[in-house]
Amino acid sequence: MDAKCSICGVHACEKGLDDNFPAFCPMYDEELYKKAIEIVTSDKYEKFYKTSTKIEKDGYAVWPRVKETMVLIDRMKFKKVGLAFCGGFIKEARILSQIFKDNNIELVSAMCKTGGIDKTRVGIEEENKCSPNEYEPMCNPVAQAMVLNKAKTDFNIVMGLCVGHDSLFYKHSDALCTTLAVKDRVTGHNPCVALYCYDGYFQGRLDLDK
Ligand code: SF4
Repeated sequence: MDAKCSICGVHACEKGLDDNFPAFCPMYDEELYKKAIEIVTSDKYEKFYKTSTKIEKDGYAVWPRVKETMVLIDRMKFKKVGLAFCGGFIKEARILSQIFKDNNIELVSAMCKTGGIDKTRVGIEEENKCSPNEYEPMCNPVAQAMVLNKAKTDFNIVMGLCVGHDSLFYKHSDALCTTLAVKDRVTGHNPCVALYCYDGYFQGRLDLDK
């Protein structure tokens, strides 16, 4: 049976209990967890994982995510950091650049429209542009990853890439990534608003056929 943690009412894993697992609990597969621990404690990831976990404690409910990200970069001694950002986040990217400069963090950045290639050149029909019959550059997440890979960044930050474009960026980034912000044009970049208001202002607005 496939895992369904999202509908679990037991959360035995959270309480350190080793019984009372629901039928859809993934924890029956002991081999899987053994393998996961091997990866997380491997030479490649152990320091990164431990550092991330320590930051969870040190800045708990005090440090905003920007600060947590900077502390992670500092403690991991990353020399060069990449930023893949959306054109809708130009202001935020500029502010972040200044904060990083003030803290001596080297930042390489690539905006989503890099390449300046019209959407029709990758098979998007004119009528499927946001503004048909006008030059409309494609988002270019693979190129963003390649630009940062070329600069040999140690770690990449994603800021506001579109749903799906972010997936391609993550897939093609050589370095590990963290997400500083996700784009949500409707909720001020806070997708959970739609969940919190699912039984209120967003009622019916999340159905696929509406
Ligand atoms: S791992 Fe098992 S106990 Fe934990 S949330 Fe998922 S189903 Fe529930």
